[in-house]
Amino acid sequence: MKLVMPCMACFQELGKPTNEFVTLEFRDDGRYEVHCSRGHNSVTVLQQQKFEILFDIGANAIIDGYYREAISSFTSSLERFYEFSIKVFCENNSMNNDTYLKIWKQVSNQSERQLGAFLFLWTSKFKETPELLNNKDTKFRNEVIHKGKIPTKQEALIFGNTILKIIRPKIKQLQSLFEEEISSVISKHIRDCSKIETNQISGGTMCANTIISLSSGEESHNTQTLENALKSILESRDIIESTESITRGLNTRARYV
Ligand SMILES: [Zn+2]
Repeated sequence: MKLVMPCMACFQELGKPTNEFVTLEFRDDGRYEVHCSRGHNSVTVLQQQKFEILFDIGANAIIDGYYREAISSFTSSLERFYEFSIKVFCENNSMNNDTYLKIWKQVSNQSERQLGAFLFLWTSKFKETPELLNNKDTKFRNEVIHKGKIPTKQEALIFGNTILKIIRPKIKQLQSLFEEEISSVISKHIRDCSKIETNQISGGTMCANTIISLSSGEESHNTQTLENALKSILESRDIIESTESITRGLNTRARYV
């Protein structure tokens, strides 16, 4: 799974993107270094939260035939969504960052503790218990992740669609009451990722078109099935492949200069 990125420094200087794109691997720290032919060494931060990226990694794993890995990434996406929601609720409670980090440290290694925090905070904010994975889905997930079960493609698709049905309505619910807090959590994330070295320039931020999306307001995008999303990913892969072949061509020419 790769990300296609223009040089945002060129974009800022020229007011429009150049025809040069680089393909990058997704990173844990959300920080993407782009070296362009005009000499920029810029750092662009991806606005997407971990849960948005992880779900896409799961979708790509299905395309590549790694169904166990897809289940694992979808599960991580859901768990990181819990973390994101907890951050939003703490923001709403005006909890300062140091306190948040201190408490998070005590739950960071145990997903059951995180789930407990999410359940209580969600229920106290929305006055209703959130719908989560049912017993059958949980059993299936545990068999795959902990017992080495090899799922079929169909099972991976069903599980991915189940995760979509859990997360998407909750994003809507969060956005209906906590829009300001969501922006604040995203801003903090961007600030944490934006460490610029002396030889680098800031390339600003960029949005990726992930399947689960905090930033997309399009109803058709936010209601598409996993199967349809996979078709879009395949189309994007074609574009990335042609970008890479152009880049390879440029590199070859550069070597002959
Ligand atoms: Zn540039």
